[in-house]
Amino acid sequence: MQVKVSKFGGSSLCDSGQFQKVKDIVLSDDMRCYIVPSAPGKRSKSDYKITDLLYLCHEHVEKSLPFDELFKLIEERYISLCSELKLSINMLEYLKILKKKIIDGASEDYVASRGEYLNALMLAEYLGYEFVDAAELIVFTKDGRLDEKATYAAIEIRLSKVKKAVIPGFYGASGDGKIRTFSRGGSDITGAIIAKGVGAVVYENWTDVSGFLMADPSIVNNPKPIKEVTYKELRELSYMGAHVFHEEAVFPVKNEGIPINIKNTNKPEEKGTFILNDKIEVKSGNITGIAGKKDFTVIAIEKTLMDKDIGYCRRVLTVLESNCVAFEHMPSGIDSISLVIDDSELENKTDKILEEIEKQCNPDSIIVHPNMALIAVVGEGMIKTRGVSARVFSSLEKDNINIRMINQGSSEMSIIVGVENEDFESAIRAVYKAFEN
Ligand code: ASP
Repeated sequence: MQVKVSKFGGSSLCDSGQFQKVKDIVLSDDMRCYIVPSAPGKRSKSDYKITDLLYLCHEHVEKSLPFDELFKLIEERYISLCSELKLSINMLEYLKILKKKIIDGASEDYVASRGEYLNALMLAEYLGYEFVDAAELIVFTKDGRLDEKATYAAIEIRLSKVKKAVIPGFYGASGDGKIRTFSRGGSDITGAIIAKGVGAVVYENWTDVSGFLMADPSIVNNPKPIKEVTYKELRELSYMGAHVFHEEAVFPVKNEGIPINIKNTNKPEEKGTFILNDKIEVKSGNITGIAGKKDFTVIAIEKTLMDKDIGYCRRVLTVLESNCVAFEHMPSGIDSISLVIDDSELENKTDKILEEIEKQCNPDSIIVHPNMALIAVVGEGMIKTRGVSARVFSSLEKDNINIRMINQGSSEMSIIVGVENEDFESAIRAVYKAFEN
């Protein structure tokens, strides 16, 4: 039988109304067999995520501070969910055990994982599905990495006997039984692993937006949704700031050819975005999306006859390496190279880096340009099409935006444009306008 794996994020399960929507969605399609929930998320902008509260409780105990008030917020949420959903599970008892474990110094991973654990217990009863603990399926090595072989073997053995199950996201256990979590947002990864393990026809990822939009809606008014995006395009877009989905969650399903469908729990009728290996139809001349980030610094280095000086780039990059600084791009000319570096990497290291480059590379000049923003215009269709870059640049020119840097990756899937931080929003709007239709 063909099955779907459906992961529901924290906002999809933040209160009883959202639980009802999830139930309607799950039961409307018999193929939705394996359900992976996150912990309850925020009910409003000023609300708390249960996972954040759990981390805080653990931190308080570590510092020998009282955490009763914090824990009360967790209790209230689960107790009200249980009573509003008319569930029979003894939530008070589960919470009592959890509180005791936190007091007794349970590990950070264990404490954080209980948000998903309790939520999955409730959802399983509410849907009438079996609860299968992720600790039985997702196996970590002792040093905290996923043990793929053991994980897929465990999934095959355990889930082949279970037709419909709810499996908590975000965590698993190492061979010695210790609970381990993925990084934050990691329920996406659990969903992807389960999808691969059961050979799902699709991995549905339900959240509070209808997939990816062509541009950030806080910058562009009502941007168009992206119907299909390839894994490679997604990598470029999310690296530049478009975040809906945990990046690492792509890997388990990508090689299996299992499509990911990002869907909106509040608007289930909308198709959402499909993430695929290859698009069914790549429209030439179109782009898939625009993303970008502010706050980069460019270090521009000039040296006559740099092109003939063997090892010059290596010497420059060695300075970055010895200062533990990663760079994003390195556009170059005959006698010049520029290092584009995220400000969060540089911290207070700029002066030291400049000094060392002066000493070890003896440049003719070295100039620092701070406050730069990068914008990536992404689309596989641009490879075969004339005029895409012309449209990007003329749209910026029309809106009087000065381009400080241009870079195109060798995959030819994106054009990166550097502008001043203050031009960032207008540049995104200008490019979006040029490709809107
Ligand atoms: N609850 C976890 C977090 O907030 C994992 C997840 O939601 O995916 O990071």
